[in-house]
This record gives sequence, structure tokens and C-alpha cells, in this order.
Amino acid sequence: MKIALISVHGDPALQAGGKDSGGMNIYVREVTERLAGEGIDVDVFTRMHDRHEEIEESLINFNIVYVKAGEESLDKLGIFSHLDTFVNEVDKYSKDNNKTYDLIYAHYWLSGVVALKLKKLWLKPVVTSFHTIQEIKQEAFPFNIDNPVRGKEERNVSKGSDAIVVWSDHEKKFIQEKFKINSRNIEVIPPGVDVDIFKPEDKSESRKIINISQDEKVILYVGRLERLKGLDTLLEALSLLDQRDINLLVVGGLYNLQELSRLKKICKDLDLDQNVHFVGSINRKELKHYYNSSDLCVLPSYYESFGLSALEASACGIPVIASKRGGLSSIVLDKKTGYLLQWRCPGPFVDKLEVLLSNRRLRDSMGVAGRNHAMSLSWDNAIGRLIDLFNKLTLR
Ligand code: UDP
Repeated sequence: MKIALISVHGDPALQAGGKDSGGMNIYVREVTERLAGEGIDVDVFTRMHDRHEEIEESLINFNIVYVKAGEESLDKLGIFSHLDTFVNEVDKYSKDNNKTYDLIYAHYWLSGVVALKLKKLWLKPVVTSFHTIQEIKQEAFPFNIDNPVRGKEERNVSKGSDAIVVWSDHEKKFIQEKFKINSRNIEVIPPGVDVDIFKPEDKSESRKIINISQDEKVILYVGRLERLKGLDTLLEALSLLDQRDINLLVVGGLYNLQELSRLKKICKDLDLDQNVHFVGSINRKELKHYYNSSDLCVLPSYYESFGLSALEASACGIPVIASKRGGLSSIVLDKKTGYLLQWRCPGPFVDKLEVLLSNRRLRDSMGVAGRNHAMSLSWDNAIGRLIDLFNKLTLR
């Protein structure tokens, strides 16, 4: 089987944790590698972008085609008007290289728009994963700036796709009810986590590697820096804790200087300068040392379609405190692998931080439960189900 995987703004070689690179880039990378491992030929088409962010090319062992469409410096908001060029270039690549594809697999709405146009040219089925849907995101956090056509295009892409892959029942229900899509065309296939990379390792060794003192308590946040991630709430909670020997490591967020300086100002105002450390984006090889150096991980997001970093923390045996939003509800098992907080205000976070920071046995037992839960969310299962879906659509 040959697949054209369209990921217009999600270059899988880009280091995650940058301004616009996160879970989707990791997902595309992991899925493509695993599909290739199953003998499926996947070409990933992504937009040629400027390379000021670190590219993890050495970690990539599949074919990425960089498509010229618009200025390389464009960000996500400016890409829409260049999608026709993107389509033409992908079609040209397929002709120049004498390659035909059995299926088009699109990631994010921009890629969905491209995929539907390619479907008209190639008459091949389209599978779309939105990763996030504007309306769901807006409901959770109405201050996002987005392309005004996005909502309409998401509906079109839903209607025109032969199948939609979502990560949670919540997203499935939304698409079914709001976009009026038959539930048979929506598959819930949550991603997995690489449990061989993200696994429990000796805490003191991990701390030595990344130069953290052995006796302090360490709280970890991993993700892009954007307001939707709700870091303000965590900072406020920290400022209310009694214990002062606590450090928060904020991993991710390189190249989003505006949000970084906003958060730094909040730290200053709350007198947290000494406790909060913005360590920037960390590559996949080193990230496990950060999880394994930590006592717990916090994801205070207003919304997460999945929340891969919570799953990675669990896989490393680290308890997670997260807001009960979107996909986080299925990754964190409340009171078993961490805590899921209904109310997104500092009080409940203070409460659970104090409980966990003062009880090592509880942290350890939640860590063991978290590891077991992560093992049950294996990539093998996800990839098997994706391949079944692709087979069903291409054999029609
Ligand atoms: N990540 C990373 N390096 C960083 C920060 C984040 O590799 O410095 C990865 C993180 O491990 C996770 C992904 O980026 O795999 C973030 O995915 P998540 O679903 O948590 O958030 P999203 O980016 O999709 O909002």
C-alpha cells in the first residue's frame, strides 16, 4: 500500500515544543515510522519552512517531501492562501516520480483541505485526523486567534473525508452531532506512547544527567507555550504552596517569545523567579531524563485533544495532575495514576500538589499504576487499527 500523508504545517522532523510544533509533529513521526515498519510505503508532504527551529533529521528514517508553497517564514495563519500551490506541487511530485498513492491521510484542517483537492485529482480515499477542532478549542478558551474560514473548512473536510480518525469519544460525539457525520465514518483510535523510550529510570542518575540537585522537589510541565495550556493557573498554585524548596521545570516553548515573556512576568509578580525554570525545548532523546528527574507532572490545560506529554509522564512512572479536559480524561485515571481536576482554578491544584508532594508512597504507587496504564495504550494496537481502516477503504 502507498500512502500520501499530508501534514502541511506539521513537519515530523521538527523538534517538538516549539511555537507551532508539538503533539501533531510527534504523532505524524511515530505513525509514519510504524506504518513503514509494517511494510507500508508512506511519503510525508509538508511545507518548506524556514529552519530556525531545530530539525531532528537524524531521527527520521522515512521520506519527507518539502513542498514549496508560500514564503518559508509564513506561520500557520498565513498558509491557507497557498494551499492550491501545495496541491499542485504534490500532484507534480507524484507525476515526476511516477508514483501513485492508494490513500491520502491528512493531518489538521489545512491538510484536510489539500487532501480533498487531491481526492478530486486522484480519485483516492481520504482519511483525516483534525488533531484539534476550532469550535471545541473556542468553547474551552475563546481567546484564540484563528483563520476565519477554519470552522467552515472543518465541516467541509469532515463531509468530504471517507473516514475521520479521532482520539477520544468526546471528539467523535462533537463531529457526529455538530458536523452531522455518520458515526460509522468516525473511528476513535487514540495514539500510543513509546514505552521503550519513556520508561522509569533511576531518579538520582537522571538528575545528575540534567544537572538538578538531589534534594529538591521537582514539578514538571512539558509542552508548547500557549495560553490554552493554562500555565498561569499552575504558577498561581505554586505561589500559594507553603513549601518553598520546590522547583517547576517548564520544558518547551522555544520561539514563542511573547508567551515566554508574559509567563516570566507572572513569575516575577508572584515572586517565583527562583522556583520556576524555563528550560526551552528539549529533544526526544533527552526528554526522558526530565520526566525521570521529576516528582510529578502537571498539565493545567483549558483543553487538550489528547495530551501526549501526560502519557509520556505516566509511561515513566510519574504521577500526573491534569485538568479534566478533552483527551486528558482518558490518559489520567483519577486517584489512580494522578488527579483529574474539574475546576481550572489554583485552589484544587494547590490541594493535590500538597497531597502528592508530601507523600512519596502515594507518588510511587500512582507511578506504577501510570506505567501499567501507559503500557495498555500501546502503539501496536493503534497501528493495527489504522491499517485495518486503510485496508477497508482501499479494498472498496
Ligand atoms: N515535546 C518535546 N520537547 C519539548 C516539549 C514537548 O518533544 O521541549 C513533545 C512532548 O513530549 C509531546 C508533544 O511535544 O510528545 C506535545 O504533545 P501534547 O499532546 O502534550 O501537546 P500539543 O502540542 O499537541 O498541544
